[in-house]
Amino acid sequence: MTTTTIIGLEVHVQLLTNSKIFCGCSSAFNPHQPNVQTCPVCLGLPGSLPVMNRRAFELAVKTALALNCDIAPFTKWDRKQYYYPDLPKGYQISQYDLPFSDDGALEIEVGGEGGGTRKIGIIRAHLEEDAGKNVHDETGRGTDSQVDLNRAGTPLLEIVSQPDLRSPQEAKRYLEELKLLLTYLNVSDCNMQEGSLRCDANVNLHIHQDDGHKVATPIVEIKNLNSFRNVELAIEFEVKRQYEEWEKTGKKMGEVAKETRGWDAARGKTVPQRGKEEASDYRYFPDPDLVPVTVSAELLDSIRATLCEFPADRRERFKGTYGLSDYDARVTVDQGQAFADYFEEVAGLCGDGKQACNWVTQDVLREMNERNLSIGEFPIRAAVLGNLLERIAKKQITIKSAREVFLELLAENPSRRPISSAHIDQIIAEKGLALVTDTGELEGVIAEVVGKNPKAVADFKAGKQAAVGALIGQVMKAVKGADPQTVRTMLVEKLGNP
Ligand code: ZN
Ligand code: MN
Repeated sequence: MTTTTIIGLEVHVQLLTNSKIFCGCSSAFNPHQPNVQTCPVCLGLPGSLPVMNRRAFELAVKTALALNCDIAPFTKWDRKQYYYPDLPKGYQISQYDLPFSDDGALEIEVGGEGGGTRKIGIIRAHLEEDAGKNVHDETGRGTDSQVDLNRAGTPLLEIVSQPDLRSPQEAKRYLEELKLLLTYLNVSDCNMQEGSLRCDANVNLHIHQDDGHKVATPIVEIKNLNSFRNVELAIEFEVKRQYEEWEKTGKKMGEVAKETRGWDAARGKTVPQRGKEEASDYRYFPDPDLVPVTVSAELLDSIRATLCEFPADRRERFKGTYGLSDYDARVTVDQGQAFADYFEEVAGLCGDGKQACNWVTQDVLREMNERNLSIGEFPIRAAVLGNLLERIAKKQITIKSAREVFLELLAENPSRRPISSAHIDQIIAEKGLALVTDTGELEGVIAEVVGKNPKAVADFKAGKQAAVGALIGQVMKAVKGADPQTVRTMLVEKLGNP
């Protein structure tokens, strides 16, 4: 008997607009001053009328185009009725049967190096307004619940995937790729702590029995997962739970209603929430206060013109242009657009993509993380690092010396002042790191070192190749800027091949 895990994800993303989707209130995250970003429209006062935010619509279309969706030439708004204290109108304005986009896909990498890619279908992406937030008393006395409507009316893009994902790891990978794409497109900040990206997971199992029969377990929707790690853990738990439940009860899909569960991160388990409403429970109907939207070819063209290079395309280009491995291309691109731009500038300046990648993904990334800086705040700008690495390529300094300069540049700069390339010259001069190619100077030092180390010389002549290492080390110590390769060649020549 084998089982297949079937996962579909619904992602809600807050769009990066200045104002809300149907009124002019600020949509900035502001939990500290409740109910200040409100007006009659988002408070749901009688007689107020919504007007669509054009910018929200354009950002939504931009995202849908990047997800390869078809854009509907005609789309409308619907009311989704339900009662909840954080929903002042008693309905949410959403899109029901005519969403503005459908039928797209997102390609994700699966497996490790060379593992290939898989297309995950997108059923639809639609626009809707966010609800407010209920703030419950956490002292335990439990009488005081409050409602903050700052968030009510914030534009949300809901992206619904096909049930194409087959493991918790694939689900996580899909979310990472989606988040990366959204940040490249600059349509959302995707800040999960602030709730800008939230995820619901639909999970069930297909159990292939030994007699050839296949049964499907009832679908469970896990609500409001607020980190990728929790998505992974919640699905892992649910897979086990559903299998055990099926062994115990034999209940199949269709025999029980779809269930909604929440993820209890502290206890590491999903817990039942409520029976899931059917669409008919929401009494959807077209919102009579909003005009439908028609999308012209001109509008589509103008939005398409704002699309950037997508992360997946950029990885491919980095592999081709700079000779990066799958892994390196992924690390460079997945750190975000500004980081990938930084890499490209360094690579262009020093003319060695692989060298640039090593430095940017190891040295720069390590120091960034240690100092808690973004690439935009990193004091060694791409132009300066490019200049430094160019000196390696031109054999002016060794890689080891370049590393010393790099750390010295950072050490000199606790105040995050930008550093200029002139500092590099200064440090190289002060520390005597200029690569010594003058063999005359080296010859003297080598003769001295050979004279002082008869044991190592004898060892080398007796066939111990490793003995030469100690001699190189001593020469390098005396002439800091010496090129180790040159020193080795000269030493071996002097000692004669063993
Ligand atoms: Zn408002
Ligand atoms: Mn929704």
